[in-house]
Amino acid sequence: MSSLELAKTVEDYVINIRRKIHQNPELSFEEFETTKLIVKELQEMGLEVTQWDDFTGAVGLLRGSKPGPTIGLRADIDALPIQQESDVPYKSCKPGVMHACAHDAHTAVLLATAKLLAAEKDSLAGNVKFIFQPAEETPPGGAKTLLEKGVLDNPRVDMLFALHHATENKTGEVGIHYGQFLAASDQFTLTLTCKGGGGSAPHKGVDGIPIAAEIILALHVMMTRQVDPVLSALISFGTINAGTKFNILADKVVMTGTCRSLDPEISTRFPKMILKVAQGIASTYDAQVELNYEHGYPALVNDQKATELLEKAAIDAIGADKVKSTTPLMAGDDLAYFLREVPGSYFWLGITPETGVIAPAHTAKFNIDEAALVTGIAVMHSAVHRALSEL
Ligand SMILES: [Zn+2]
Ligand SMILES: [Zn+2]
Repeated sequence: MSSLELAKTVEDYVINIRRKIHQNPELSFEEFETTKLIVKELQEMGLEVTQWDDFTGAVGLLRGSKPGPTIGLRADIDALPIQQESDVPYKSCKPGVMHACAHDAHTAVLLATAKLLAAEKDSLAGNVKFIFQPAEETPPGGAKTLLEKGVLDNPRVDMLFALHHATENKTGEVGIHYGQFLAASDQFTLTLTCKGGGGSAPHKGVDGIPIAAEIILALHVMMTRQVDPVLSALISFGTINAGTKFNILADKVVMTGTCRSLDPEISTRFPKMILKVAQGIASTYDAQVELNYEHGYPALVNDQKATELLEKAAIDAIGADKVKSTTPLMAGDDLAYFLREVPGSYFWLGITPETGVIAPAHTAKFNIDEAALVTGIAVMHSAVHRALSEL
């Protein structure tokens, strides 16, 4: 049977598991019931299971009967703090918590893939490691901790694949990209301290708001003048807070924002660049600035060989017309930590029905076309087989 035909044999299973998880969503780092369900399923398949007392998530190891490489597959398992508004029969039973990023689907697809591969254990030359990772949605994320716990070792993972839902791809399609794919995503707080004063006599004080305005504009210009324009660099301000009354000058302005780049090196330059510009402007007006900069998930880069292998495997599984090339995004994902350690490729699983996007991810009416799930299983299954035979 082909990977797609095999995937169809577990379609009821994957939908059932996905709905169970959808109904019982859990926030980052609190995926206790989800972990229990994953562990129970993996044990029933006869896999070696690793879990931790102090951390959610689990890893299932399938040892093939013959020696060979070890292929890793990863799914994220956490939900979001959103009140679900769609009325599906399997609606979230937890107020204010919802699977609005399809991590329920990612988890179910990985379990179903494990089920198919576990049944082929006797003919497998090599191992497959199924990594169920908590807390993708909340930095510092779960991937870093799993790495520290050694999930890529014993046996060492030689190549890793993962999928994420994509609304821009239709049901039945996947999206593939070579090289730099997702951005390093950092956050910062810039605090401007000055003298304040009265709105009627700005010359006697130091007014924070125009200085902040100048800094914000200068930082946008800086991003376009100090970074090679063929590379990517982004700054966005999310909040700005200052002042108490219409006729009082602000003595403090607190701004928060995010910096992003697809290039792993550029984001390391951001803190120095921001501070230099902000300090220059602030000192012109006798104000002070303080920068608190936190590096978040690193840039995610798809490995050339792994992506070639994935593309061929996807064409085998679902046909060339369903394998689309896709473009990078300035979003972040902590799968990046894994892909710094081992070659791998992250790909999009289309979840949009012919009738159009149901609702964007991270919104209260989000849902997937469940017919998409078999495509994910088929491509994962095919990728494992190709990787086991080619590595
Ligand atoms: Zn998300
Ligand atoms: Zn997600």
